[in-house]
Amino acid sequence: IFNKMLTMQGRLRVMARIRPLEMKEGGGGGQRCLSIAPGGDTIMLDFDHNGAHKFRFDKVFSHLPNAHSDTEHGIAEQVLPLALSAMDGYNVCIFAYGQTGSGKTHTMKALTSIICRKLFSSREGFKSKVSVSYTEIYNNEVRDLLRNPKDDHGRSEWGRVDKIDHNVPSLDVRTNSDGKVEVNSISVRITCAEEVEDLVRRGTEIRSTFSTDLNKHSSRSHALLTITCEVENEWAGLKYCGKLNLVDLAGSERLSRSNTEGDRLKETQFINTSLAALGNVMSALAKDQAYIPYRDSKLTMLLSDSLSGNSKVLMMTCIKEGTEEASETLCSLQFGARAKRV
Ligand code: ADP
Ligand code: MG
Repeated sequence: IFNKMLTMQGRLRVMARIRPLEMKEGGGGGQRCLSIAPGGDTIMLDFDHNGAHKFRFDKVFSHLPNAHSDTEHGIAEQVLPLALSAMDGYNVCIFAYGQTGSGKTHTMKALTSIICRKLFSSREGFKSKVSVSYTEIYNNEVRDLLRNPKDDHGRSEWGRVDKIDHNVPSLDVRTNSDGKVEVNSISVRITCAEEVEDLVRRGTEIRSTFSTDLNKHSSRSHALLTITCEVENEWAGLKYCGKLNLVDLAGSERLSRSNTEGDRLKETQFINTSLAALGNVMSALAKDQAYIPYRDSKLTMLLSDSLSGNSKVLMMTCIKEGTEEASETLCSLQFGARAKRV
């Protein structure tokens, strides 16, 4: 895997994945508003009689004609070289962006297990140490998803509608003397892929999810799984430390869609602010600007060392193909396109 990344141009890539229409009883699954142009990397969104909106990505995964294979294997092929460069000492970020129900959690879960399996099978022959931390950012506060569940009162209520434990202390985010952002999250040493999957499964149970009109388990928090790899290559006498961040972002849907108020309104505003901050950082990076606004949100602060320098970034824009979702899909595609080019 050494230097495999040299063959991948650019360190910022934006891909898209289209969740297939739900098959309703009786077979019909609603109207579709998306198609893929020959070549496989341009999505055409056609819904408002203004002609098709076109968006070009690095790769588009879908069951639709012309797209790249949406199988686990098809996606793994495109994503693994980037993800595994964490073992060569790179810092890597993979985001899933999109409205609630577009397949972010589904996609990140699959990617996590594919990547971890490969990570542990390909590190044979190296001396390496892998550790994991798992946090969420909810209303711009960071909470540990690996904390001992027994410590947190009312944990069994989590995930249920309108219950959140405000007593769980949030983690300190601070900048150390080198200007590096640090957070005092729990870090667990890992020896196999199954251990990561198990931690993620348990951590996800306590993630802040709420019922909105859109989805019973609409995630209102960003979940950050950070896999740190320390690799020693005795043969070459080298040591590397790389970091892979797998980020399941909170749903990007706009306020009016979920018809929210009170606490839900506040959450949505925090989500919108942090996603906007992420978009601004990515577009500043894409333009090679001198000033990158990392400090505008906890999300971009926590990820600053994995978004800057020679880190590798992949935004997986998750979209739905139904016509009813077209205006949200347009927003998601615009976000992805802006992150890439502006
Ligand atoms: P999100 O995290 O963006 O809110 P989920 O990942 O929870 O969305 O997906 C919503 C539902 O759609 C889940 O039941 C999931 O299993 C299903 N789903 C998502 N993506 C796909 C896909 N590519 N193929 C089949 N089912 C999918
Ligand atoms: Mg989700």
